[in-house]
Amino acid sequence: MEELVALCKRRGFIFQSNEIYGGLQGLYDYGPLGVELKNNLKQSWWREMVFDRDDVEGLDASILTKPSVLKFSGHEDTFTDPLVDCRDCKSRWRADQLTSENCPSCGSSNLTDPRPFNLMFKTAVGPVEDNESFAYLRPETAQHIFTNFKNVVDSTSKQLPFGIAQIGKAFRNEITPRNFVFRVREFEQMELEFFVAPGTDEQWHESWVEARINWWDKQGVSRNNLELYHVPEDELAHYSKATVDIMYKFPHGLEELEGIANRTDFDLGSHSKNQSELDIQSSVLENNESNARLAVQDQETKKWTVPYVIEPSAGVDRGVLAVLNEAYKIEELEDGKTRTVLNLKPHLSPIKAAVIPLKKNHEGLVEIASQIKKDLQRLRFGRVLLENSGNIGKSYRRHDEIGTPLCITVDFDSLDDGTVTVRDRDTMQQKRIEISKLSKYLEDLILK
Ligand code: ATP
Repeated sequence: MEELVALCKRRGFIFQSNEIYGGLQGLYDYGPLGVELKNNLKQSWWREMVFDRDDVEGLDASILTKPSVLKFSGHEDTFTDPLVDCRDCKSRWRADQLTSENCPSCGSSNLTDPRPFNLMFKTAVGPVEDNESFAYLRPETAQHIFTNFKNVVDSTSKQLPFGIAQIGKAFRNEITPRNFVFRVREFEQMELEFFVAPGTDEQWHESWVEARINWWDKQGVSRNNLELYHVPEDELAHYSKATVDIMYKFPHGLEELEGIANRTDFDLGSHSKNQSELDIQSSVLENNESNARLAVQDQETKKWTVPYVIEPSAGVDRGVLAVLNEAYKIEELEDGKTRTVLNLKPHLSPIKAAVIPLKKNHEGLVEIASQIKKDLQRLRFGRVLLENSGNIGKSYRRHDEIGTPLCITVDFDSLDDGTVTVRDRDTMQQKRIEISKLSKYLEDLILK
């Protein structure tokens, strides 16, 4: 983990947030390369979830959330972790993560009994700060998918089964944020709520688990490093009938990368008015405030049913950490030296290709290199960089380390014969190809 953290800082992937003021625990900022990697991961998820299917629509809802939403979703009462204080050194811990009865910081056994600590952040809304005018920062992106259920159905005429996908920030006041971006207080989630007819939910649950493992595999997170954890009944979240966690071998241990829950009809049911007239399977909270009926009507029987929902919920930050961890290698070279390389899948690489003139500021070479950059950039696969450094060896090393799949060198032969040298990051092999064939070459590499 230390090596990864150091690489992330050195090369501009991830920085400690508020660093120049001493940092703020549990917050990280994504730098020039990190933002590209993160965007590429999110884009890959969006493509597969929304563009490649016809049964999923997208949403981008507000972060600030009215307290009643999180009251009726059950979060006000149950979204807690057990907190213990050390009476001696005043440190605070999550009781379920302690490995002994002693304080991990000072060793004292003088700990308080665990008490529930709600993880939701509150903020004042409007100019007056009082107990009435506040909102929560959403602790998951899911709730506004449920509150918008009717809007999406009415505006798209979707029939079951169908899904609503959303990517966005979520906030949790974690008691002990740790392990780099694994457990932070502000993070991003990629969540799909997939609505299905009651009775078909278990089958859909199984197929979504499989689909999600496949997707992670395509991001370079090998199946061999994933394990499924079927959450036991006494550990299930209040809304869940069954949850399967996809666990990944993070540098600090096997932990959750994504959770896939069968949330039943709990959320839509509890946000619906006139529940007594609805066909609801699970026992939901009493609701008197919502003005919506979040249900679908059977065309023949005219009966209103609240759909069940399967929720694959993945953490973007944990995804970035997993992808980096899988890609990070230190390789022995034939000359006895080593090289650091990130074998990122090309569609995730922050920079798709670096175009390097052999001689710095050489007019003819820079002109060709600039044109190549422009042409490749036009493909819109991601960032292509013109690197007018004049130091090819150094450029290769840097681009290996940040995962650039292709380096293109423009040399003096290029002026005469219109060819360039392309160097493959993984094999380090170099070959000459015609400039006119570069676009196709890059396209094949990224889309393979
Ligand atoms: P954990 O048990 O690790 O706290 P969770 O079960 O509370 O996670 P979910 O509520 O299922 O997590 O959230 C879905 C996903 O959001 C998780 O699989 C994870 O990838 C991500 N996630 C949740 N909490 C955090 C956090 N504090 N920091 C970073 N990512 C998080």
